[in-house]
Amino acid sequence: MKKSILLFSLLIISVASYASLEVKKVADNVYALVGETTQRSASNFGNNSTHGVIITNEGVVVIDSGASYLGAQEIHQAVQALTNKPIKIVINTGGQDHRWLGNDYFQKLGARIVASKKTQNDQKVRADYHLTRLGSLIGESLDGTNPVFADEVFDTQKNIEIGGVELELYHVGAAHTVGDIFIYMPSQSVMFAGDIVFNDRMLGIGPAKNTQSWIDVFEKMASFQPKHIVPGHGRVSDLSTATKNTQQYLKFLKDKIINILENDGDMLEASKIDQSDFHFLSGYQDIAGKNAQWVFEQMEFDY
Ligand SMILES: [Zn+2]
Repeated sequence: MKKSILLFSLLIISVASYASLEVKKVADNVYALVGETTQRSASNFGNNSTHGVIITNEGVVVIDSGASYLGAQEIHQAVQALTNKPIKIVINTGGQDHRWLGNDYFQKLGARIVASKKTQNDQKVRADYHLTRLGSLIGESLDGTNPVFADEVFDTQKNIEIGGVELELYHVGAAHTVGDIFIYMPSQSVMFAGDIVFNDRMLGIGPAKNTQSWIDVFEKMASFQPKHIVPGHGRVSDLSTATKNTQQYLKFLKDKIINILENDGDMLEASKIDQSDFHFLSGYQDIAGKNAQWVFEQMEFDY
């Protein structure tokens, strides 16, 4: 009796353990693992983020390794439900926790870990900060997490060929974090945009704090005219949805702040900007005012 209860609970754990990630097919052999758009929590292992999976003849490419060891395991289980091929390459699209703190897990499985040089440095600089913050947000779900930095880096551009699939990696400037990259898969016109694109939830200005650079990076990503965008947060979309949710919001904030600065306004005014046009993005209540203050803070030096 006890044994069957134990078996039953193990079964529940293994089913639930990747349940916070919704698996969505993007194109043939390309999937998105779409995490919750709420805050990091014990039940999502810090994976309040979207990840990419590409299955090739030679093995699997995972885009962004998750926020914790258990979060990486959750991603792995989602991949195993799709294929039994080994994970060969993990790409970190940026320096935020959920992009890379699962590296250790995948490196132990034999995967190469690729990122931009700036992201690798960002990982080194902010590892302790991430671990402390995650400790308070996800508690025991952080157990076993050991920060492992990307071991294969590039400055601005790198091509990867695996199992007949070509991937183009570009770092063209800071967006949400200093080393953000986008990954283009020409054969299927899929763009893995990482934190350059936020869908469904309101973006946070992030540590890079350079709104104009993020707008420009988005523009370069968009110039590929991808058919499908796998964002860093939220659901897979087309380019126009991604533009509305991310780039138009950044431009809106920038224009409003310029207006305040030109009229000698202050930060209090910035925090009162009417952002209701973007209320459909989740987290709006909590982050809209902060975003305006961050953009104000950063732009007032230029005036
Ligand atoms: Zn993120």
